[in-house]
Order: sequence, then C-alpha cells, then structure tokens
Amino acid sequence: MRIHHLNCGTMAFGLVDHCLLIETRDSLVLVDTGYGLGCVRDPGKMLGVSRFVLGAKLRESQTAVRQIQALGYDPRDVRHIILTHLDLDHSGGLSDFPEATVHVHGPEFRAATATPTFSERLRYRAQQWEHGPKWMVNEVEGGEDWFGFTTVRDLPGLPPEILVVPLAGHTRGHVGVAVDSGRGWLLHAGDAFLTESSIDPEQPKTPFFVKLFESGAIVGDAHRENQRRLRELNRAHSHELTIINSHDAAVFARLAGR
Ligand SMILES: [Zn+2]
Repeated sequence: MRIHHLNCGTMAFGLVDHCLLIETRDSLVLVDTGYGLGCVRDPGKMLGVSRFVLGAKLRESQTAVRQIQALGYDPRDVRHIILTHLDLDHSGGLSDFPEATVHVHGPEFRAATATPTFSERLRYRAQQWEHGPKWMVNEVEGGEDWFGFTTVRDLPGLPPEILVVPLAGHTRGHVGVAVDSGRGWLLHAGDAFLTESSIDPEQPKTPFFVKLFESGAIVGDAHRENQRRLRELNRAHSHELTIINSHDAAVFARLAGR
C-alpha cells in the first residue's frame, strides 16, 4: 500500500499536524484530518480561542483536501477517515469529506459528544462535526496481539493491513493506527508522545516544555504507561516497524522526504 505523509497544519514551535493518506486497492484512507477549509475560512467558529493557544497558522494549501487534489486525486475517493482522537487539531477537516465513513473509538466518541467534562469542552469542537459525518463508532477495545499490544482488526470497510491500537491517555479514547505497508509496519501513535526523544530506545528524554504540554493528558497514568510501552516497542522492534506521531516536525520531514 502506498502511504503519503501530509502536514495538514503548522502550529507554534514549528509543530506539524502529521496525517496519512493511504492508497488501498479500491479507495483512499485518511488518518486524521488536521485543519480543514472551514478552519481557514471561519477559524472563530471551527476552532474558537484554542487556535491562539495552539498558534495555528491556517493556510488553505495545507488542508488535506487541497493536498489530495494537488497529488492528482479526487477527494471523493477518500472513503474512510480514521481518527486518532477528536481534538480540534485532528478533526478540523472532517467537513471536507462529507461522504467518508469516519472511524472513531467508542470511548473517544462518547467523551467528545456525550459527556465532555469542562476541560474536554475546551479541546473538542462540536462545530467540526455539525454537518453530520457518517460515524463508525468502534466499540471493540482490542483483543488480537500485535507486538504485545491489543489491537482492533477488521474495521468495517477497511483492509486487514490497517489496525487500530488503543493508546488511551492523551484523551479517553485515543488510539494509534498501524499500517502494514508491505515493507514493514508504520504505527501512527497520534499524540501518545509529542517528541520522538520521548521514545528513544537508548536515552529517552522529554524536554520540560513538552512535559508541560503532556500534563494536559486526560488520563495521566495511562498516558505515561503507553509512552513507556511505545519506548519498549521501539527498542525491541525498530527493525520491523516505524513509530511516528502527529506533531514532531523532524519525524514528518524524515518520513515525507522533505
Ligand atoms: Zn494534537
């Protein structure tokens, strides 16, 4: 399967919004959406004051829909979107793909739509899904073993080479997405870690300001434990899998070849 790496949003400190566009046999699959056209055109509505906190630099050319067109594809061929979570910097482009099935983990869907706490109301933005996406809410917590992680296989409509890996912590239903590219596995771990030095197998290190950001994790214990497990996964299996995340610019540059 061909995998394209797209940066669908630049933010403060040079952070990127690393999304994947996957070509399967019969359709395109997007992993996270970044910021969409609605965010560029009406940032107050789609992002609220959080856009200032994140330092979002909104550009139409950086939206997933415009990048997909620039690659020569028809955005209507994006039949599936898999979201690592529903934070506003990950789901801002949903309305650009109204026909796509949107796969989201059950605990995440409920946190964002049914029972958001006060702090969760600051990170989730209901305006991003007021168009009524075709939700596919996954209620399976995972069972099959994948490098020691439980995973959810056989997502409706998706090929078996694409797995969901529950990685709760950053948010209640945060997940990673693993893709068997044919030349090894790629695990998009979303916001389970913010800088790759955190999962360095030799000398893991999380800078102080990154720790500050990470202290916003909804379930702190789970976040720390999953980061530890990802570090262990990286140490033991880096020869057969590549772990990436959403916001590390160096990781994106390496994978995108830029
Ligand atoms: Zn994020």
